Amino acid sequence: MFKHIPSYPGDPILSLMHTFMKDDRPHKANLSIGLYYDEAGKIPVLKSVELAQQRIDESVPHVYLPMEGDNTYRRLIAETVFGADHVAVKEQRVATIHTLGGSGALKVGADFLKTYFPDSELWISDPTWENHYNILGGAGLVMHTFPYYDPATNGIRFDEMMAALEQLPARAIVLLQPCCHNPTGIDPTREQWTAIADVLLRRNVIPFFDMAYQGFGDGLDEDAWVVRHMAAQGAAMLVGNSFSKNMSLYGERVGGLSVVCNTSAEAGQVLGQLQATVRKNYSSPPLFGSRVVSGVLGDPELRAMWAAEVTQMRKRIHEMRAALRSGLKARLPDLDVEYFVTQRGMFSYTGLGQAQVDTLRDEYGVYLIKSGRMCVAGLSHGNLELVADSMAKVMQP
Ligand code: PMP
Repeated sequence: MFKHIPSYPGDPILSLMHTFMKDDRPHKANLSIGLYYDEAGKIPVLKSVELAQQRIDESVPHVYLPMEGDNTYRRLIAETVFGADHVAVKEQRVATIHTLGGSGALKVGADFLKTYFPDSELWISDPTWENHYNILGGAGLVMHTFPYYDPATNGIRFDEMMAALEQLPARAIVLLQPCCHNPTGIDPTREQWTAIADVLLRRNVIPFFDMAYQGFGDGLDEDAWVVRHMAAQGAAMLVGNSFSKNMSLYGERVGGLSVVCNTSAEAGQVLGQLQATVRKNYSSPPLFGSRVVSGVLGDPELRAMWAAEVTQMRKRIHEMRAALRSGLKARLPDLDVEYFVTQRGMFSYTGLGQAQVDTLRDEYGVYLIKSGRMCVAGLSHGNLELVADSMAKVMQP
């Protein structure tokens, strides 16, 4: 019956992680998958999260959540993404549901858009997170790219990007990452975001913000700036968010999808269709993670503790970026490696090609993904020398 089913070659990033784990060399560094490691090279359990978990009453039955998730969790998502005092939240124009991480937000959002905007096509940055193609394309959306990364300057092709956005048809869907762009680490400046927002509003398109790294760029509020700005301007749009990284809750599948509408009546209708979309996919979201997240965000003390822990993670990433830049500068003084400190978030597009990436892995045990993307959140003082040394060797002109 199943003989014709082709074998799955595996997801390139997840497979690389597997190869890394099997690599028995004593000195190695995993800079491939998007996971935040602490200075000890461990995936942290945040103190705020641990305390919230301890406070959970374990005698409460494991009932199904409603399709849209728990009400408190949903309210706390909206407050984290938009801010509690945001005009769109106050006017009850935002329909928010619990999704299975940021990936779930993309899937539910894409299904919703495909159903109610069947003629709309999607534009996405070149390059983007590889799984965007699987999830969004898999939901049936026709996908196009707009220019983004400029290898010559290690910056954004801003003029070309703007020219492409200026050509979009009304109701086109535009996927944007508000902070910590995966895979490049390059974000528009606030001035550039303002200009981007103006075009999107003027062209009457549907922005779909994918915010998987809130707090890892410049701060929890700062990173959501363009989302809040556009929602305040009255844009109708979608926002996916994730607590996978900023709460280190990867496996609990805690994320959200918020659809910002023009009126609260519209938000009610949209919420109903988001519920229907969830029902058709997986019926309802998981319970445990949302109880933990609500425990953190709903308690002023734990929330403050969490915000401080996010700051700590962000600072460590910045420190590691600076340390790698200095390490490379010391070894290759003529090479311009400033981009390591101007980029934001967990990732850096290093500009390394496939052959260099292969050498780093095979000869030095340093794992990057084949596009040359490095997860800088995998750097620590323990592996920095190894990484700087081996990178300098492959980067030598
Ligand atoms: N969007 C982007 C840009 C991401 O990098 C990721 C995680 N790698 C996601 C969405 C998915 O987030 P989650 O792991 O919470 O599903």
